[in-house]
This record gives sequence, structure tokens and C-alpha cells, in this order.
Amino acid sequence: MLINNNLIKDLQKTLSAENVLSTMEERYAYAQDATNSRQIKNLPDAVVFVENTEQVQKIVKLANKYKTPIICRGAGTNVVGSCRTVHGGIVLNFSKMNKILELSRENMTATVQPGVIVGDLQKEAEKIGLFYPPDPSNLKVSTIGGSIAQASGGAKTFKYGTTKDYILDLKVVTATGEILRTGSSTIKNATGYNLNSLFVGSEGTLGIVVEATMKLIPQPESKKVLMAYFDTVEDSVHAVNSIIEQRIYPATIDFMDKNAIQTVEKFYPAGLLCDKEAALVIEIDGFETTMNYQQNIIVSVLENCKASAIQYSTNEEEYERIWTARRSSMGACAKMKPNVTTDDVIVPRKNLAALVKGINDICKKYDLTVCMVGHVGDGSVHPQIPIDYRDEEEYRRFKLAKSEIYDLTAKLDGILSGEHGIGAEKREYIHKVINGVALDYMRQIKKTFDPNNILNPYKIF
Ligand SMILES: Cc1cc2nc3c(=O)[nH]c(=O)nc-3n(C[C@H](O)[C@H](O)[C@H](O)COP(=O)(O)OP(=O)(O)OC[C@H]3O[C@@H](n4cnc5c(N)ncnc54)[C@H](O)[C@@H]3O)c2cc1C
Repeated sequence: MLINNNLIKDLQKTLSAENVLSTMEERYAYAQDATNSRQIKNLPDAVVFVENTEQVQKIVKLANKYKTPIICRGAGTNVVGSCRTVHGGIVLNFSKMNKILELSRENMTATVQPGVIVGDLQKEAEKIGLFYPPDPSNLKVSTIGGSIAQASGGAKTFKYGTTKDYILDLKVVTATGEILRTGSSTIKNATGYNLNSLFVGSEGTLGIVVEATMKLIPQPESKKVLMAYFDTVEDSVHAVNSIIEQRIYPATIDFMDKNAIQTVEKFYPAGLLCDKEAALVIEIDGFETTMNYQQNIIVSVLENCKASAIQYSTNEEEYERIWTARRSSMGACAKMKPNVTTDDVIVPRKNLAALVKGINDICKKYDLTVCMVGHVGDGSVHPQIPIDYRDEEEYRRFKLAKSEIYDLTAKLDGILSGEHGIGAEKREYIHKVINGVALDYMRQIKKTFDPNNILNPYKIF
């Protein structure tokens, strides 16, 4: 407690008092993130709001002095316990470092502070005809720092890739308080190791991002969304491959199963067809003059693949309605039971049908409800399982199902996360898909960057 009090005093001297939170209630509020965990076991010692890089450097020095962890925090919306304060420490909140520093039409780049909201960057880029495609479903709240640390993807990954594909340069405060640059603001870079790739997806365990430069691309002139319904899941998955074979490149091919459709419609009536087994949400984009051409090809493929109904957006309102329905799945699922878990498994697309069927079989075996959505164009599935954590027996069955889903994913040449990360929640399973040699190298990398193990310790592996 003495160390704790001294730490708080030092933090208050370093930042202004209103930027340091330390009451029990305040610490409790920051012990968790959007992950639906069973219990909150440990609270942070303090939560600090940083306003500039120098303050971050000073906090790092204090963390080294007190040998206490630093857990960076954007919006706290990750779903793998990545912001969980496993062993107390200082939560570094970036909501006050939220400025877009430069948007360059000429370079087609954006340089931002880590607390910038992903959706806000998209809106600002759009104003100058540019586009930042990574779009986690909760892009209205999630931050650039958090999405870099989790290597976030989203619905548009199929055509445009994930956060990993847009980072050109990061300014990072290291575990010893130095400044490290991971790249440059040029569009290509073959100068030394690719540190950008190392830091994107590192979940705040290797360094603290205080500035990021991202590549932007031209904003597509037009976009439209179609929703195609199927009487079997297999038909819907088959349709994904058939669309791709036509050399059409939709921006999105997303999926909802019957449980997801019905649950969303129950809590967010959007006119979805609840008697269907599966739906694909397909977004096309490009020049206005190509939209009908693309749509006609896709509709004819969908009809050949036994789509039993197709809905289109004909205006912005309908476009938003379909997307809001798709993005509401987790929120809707959360209303079914006191808790909801979401997962993020991904396989090569050819094994997608087997994954979806296998997850359904496993959940049936363990008597669990599952709502499945996913970015199926990428082979990515998010099984969302409503659960009551107070029910010990249900929780036991859930843990068994979770482990079997990972075994199945590994058997189908897949991986445990395509976009959510591993955090605290999935670290005990990572050995199922990453071999021992690779894990040893990862541990050595962590030690090199963070010798005192102060940066978000006990995450990933
Ligand atoms: C309803 C819902 C829908 C979602 N949909 C998607 C989706 O479609 N696709 C997807 O990929 N994800 C999705 N997610 C997961 C989550 O939103 C993403 O991981 C998100 O980008 C995290 O951003 P955040 O600002 O909330 O980060 P946080 O949760 O605050 O932090 C995430 C990680 O980043 C680290 N971190 C934060 N800032 C920094 C920094 N400056 N430097 C170093 N490390 C830092 C934290 O320590 C932590 O490890 C969804 C989550 C929810 C709740």
C-alpha cells in the first residue's frame, strides 16, 4: 500500500491531479474491457489520462521505478481481455490524445494520435475523397491505437485488408522510455526489418504507440449492399466461392446464420427474413457506372446457388439499416442471457463450410445456443454464445465447447484469431496453433523489447 501511495503521488506530480484516477470505484471501472469475463480479480493501481508523448515517457520511467505494469487503453472494446489488469498496474488512457495531426491528399496518408476514433478518421478522410478501409463493427468507438494493437479487421477485409495493410510508420515509446520509429511515411519501404508488422497485433506488449501514419486509398464513388438468403448454410458458403470465381471483388462478403438473423430481428426489427437458414451480406463498390453490372453478375450467381430471396439497398437509409442489423448481432445476442461470449476463428476458405457445420455440431453436443456471424469472404467466423456465468454446469460445457472449437479450427488449418487478438482470454490455447519454436521466438522478442516485463504482461502467450 505504501508503494501504491507513493506511486499515486508520483503520478500526480507528473500529470495534473485530474488526470490521475485512484479511488476504488474508478479503478474498478478500468479493470475490465468489453470481454465478458466471469470475474474481476485484480484492479489497476491507477488510471492516468496522458496528453502528450513526454508524459507517456515519464509514466514509463515511473513504471520501471515501481516495477508495475502499464496497460494501454483505447476505448476498451477488445473482446479478449487484452486490457485486463491481471497484476494491477497503471492504465494508460489515450482518450485525450485524439487529434488527427495531418491528412495529406498528395501523399494519401494520415498521421494521427492513438486515441483517434476509427470512424472519425474515416469521415475526415472521406471529406478529401480518401478512404481508410479497416472497419471493426464498432468503428464508431474503437480507437486507432487499440485497432493497431489488436490488428483489427472488419467487414471490408476481403477486398481491402486489415489494419496491418495500412500502417506505414509508428512512433512508439519503448519499455525504457525511448522513442522508436517502426517505418517511414513512404508508400513502400525495404529498409531493414519490418517493425510495423511486429508492432501491429502486439496488443500493447512491446511498446506504446503515440503516433501512427497510415496509408489511405481513393474513396470508391459508389457503394451498395445486397442481402441474399439461403435455405441451407452449405448453399450460402458455396455461393461465396461461386461469386469469387466470377472475378468480381465485392468489398464485403459477410454471413449470418438463422439464430443470428432471428435474434437481431427480435431486438432490432430491420425486416430480415427469419425463416431462412443463412444470409450473406454482400457489399459492392466502385464507379457508379459499374454498379448495375456488378449487381447483375452477383444476382445471377446467387440465383444459380439457390438463393431463395435477395434484398437490395436502394438508398443510404436502406444501406445503413442492413449494416446496422449485421453489426447489431453481438448486442442482440447479449440480450438472450446475462452474458455473451464472442469468438474469432478463421480457416482457409475451402474449409469454411466444415468449420461452420462443426461449430454448430459442437454447440449442439454441449447444449449451447450459438449465433454465428462472420466475414466469410475471408474464412472468418464469430460464434457468439449467450451464457449465464452463474450456472456452473453451463460454464463447464461452454469451456469444453470452446476448446473443441479451437481443436477443430486447428484441424482445418486455421488459426485462433483473424482480427480480435489473443489477450488474456485465449492465451492458454495458443499452443494449439503456434508451434513451440515460434512461441519461444515470440518470448525472446518480448524480452528484448520489454526486459522488466512491464508492458501489458501475461497476454498472448
Ligand atoms: C460490438 C463489437 C464489435 C467488434 N467488431 C470487430 C470487428 O468487426 N473486427 C475487429 O477486428 N474487431 C472487432 N471488435 C473488437 C475490438 O473492437 C477491436 O479489437 C478494437 O479495434 C479495439 O479498439 P479499442 O480502442 O477498444 O482498444 P482497447 O480495447 O482499448 O485496447 C486493445 C489493445 O490495444 C492496446 N492499446 C490500446 N492503445 C494502445 C496504444 N496507444 N499503444 C499500444 N497498445 C495500445 C491495449 O493495451 C489492448 O491490448 C469488436 C468489439 C465489439 C465490442
